[in-house]
Amino acid sequence: MSNMSVSLEMCAVDFMGEELSPEEVAIAERITELKATLGDRLLVLGHHYQRDSIVMHADFIGDSFMLSQKAAESDAEFIVFCGVHFMAESADILTSKDQSVVLPNLRAGCSMADMATLVEVEVAWKQLLEETGMDDPIDKEDPISLAKPGDGYIVPVTYMNSSADLKDFVGRHGGVVCTSSNAEGVLNWAFERAGENGAVLFFPDQHLGRNTGLKMGIPKSKMPVWVPNMGLMGEDTNNPRIVLWHGFCSVHKRFTVSQIENFRERFPDGKVIVHPECEAEVVNAADSNGSTQFIKNYVESMPEGSKVGIGTEINMVARLAQEHPDKHIECLDSQVCPCSTMYMIHPAYLMDVLERLVDGEIPNQIIVPDSVQEGSMLALNRMLSIPK
Ligand code: SF4
Repeated sequence: MSNMSVSLEMCAVDFMGEELSPEEVAIAERITELKATLGDRLLVLGHHYQRDSIVMHADFIGDSFMLSQKAAESDAEFIVFCGVHFMAESADILTSKDQSVVLPNLRAGCSMADMATLVEVEVAWKQLLEETGMDDPIDKEDPISLAKPGDGYIVPVTYMNSSADLKDFVGRHGGVVCTSSNAEGVLNWAFERAGENGAVLFFPDQHLGRNTGLKMGIPKSKMPVWVPNMGLMGEDTNNPRIVLWHGFCSVHKRFTVSQIENFRERFPDGKVIVHPECEAEVVNAADSNGSTQFIKNYVESMPEGSKVGIGTEINMVARLAQEHPDKHIECLDSQVCPCSTMYMIHPAYLMDVLERLVDGEIPNQIIVPDSVQEGSMLALNRMLSIPK
């Protein structure tokens, strides 16, 4: 079952090249014992942005899309999610009532997900329907109906990086969830339902929405930004095709065009790949862009001796560099930029929750209330049914 690519030996140093302490090695050994005790009752999922001393214990390492699929397919009693809060919520939605999803540190949230709240989105929704004259795509008789193609609708699309109550809102309004690996397919699905005279409300990450829209040939002027408490902002707010929420990722916002220029000066034959949560100018200056899984595959496909500058979270870049010593791989941001909330999953927290599971407790369980399960499940399952 394991696709573990990071061994205990590799974790003798962290991404800063510092040796792990004897205490950290002891924690790793204890986690391995606890996992063996729990056996098939346990599934540990690790996001690419987790530190090596966490992902070495993961049964699957992946991006939020892949990990949500693994959670949905699993019949393990306990799913310990080494990622952030919204990912654990999605795993809880996609698993059965008999399964428990555990987040090793409850403080591990996502600053981008926090940039759109249900109250703000409900206000925006009402105002947008009034101002644009477009319709809500729900069937009034059956609010949980399958979204059907129509015309002149606003279809809500939320990035996976959002809370469960927003996914529920989207599911109840004929919309769908997307990730950075399937955003284009999901937007095509949404436009079919919105019709030629309709639009998509995309939240919370304006950059993923804008970059995907530009890739699909939608001009920037047709993608105004919704700023809470201010309304629609942009060159042309009359006939939007995508309304972008004013959210961003504090990690990917750090990457700049001048960092890319600096890399190209040093490595004229090098390649630059960035995550689509970066600003459009940065994505435009790169050779390629894509999800964490896409970046991983891109690096793996490059020939020996290649030089690659990457614009994404440092733990993932450092791991790629470790796994490909035959290539020069560096992070575009020399200041090093771990995601501070992902970094809250320390191995000591993982050890602690596993100890308590072995003792018969279920600590730090993430339970999505029944009241938001139905709509969220619908929005997530619509996403899983759309081909990438
Ligand atoms: S990298 Fe950005 S989007 Fe991902 S969890 Fe961290 S803050 Fe959120």
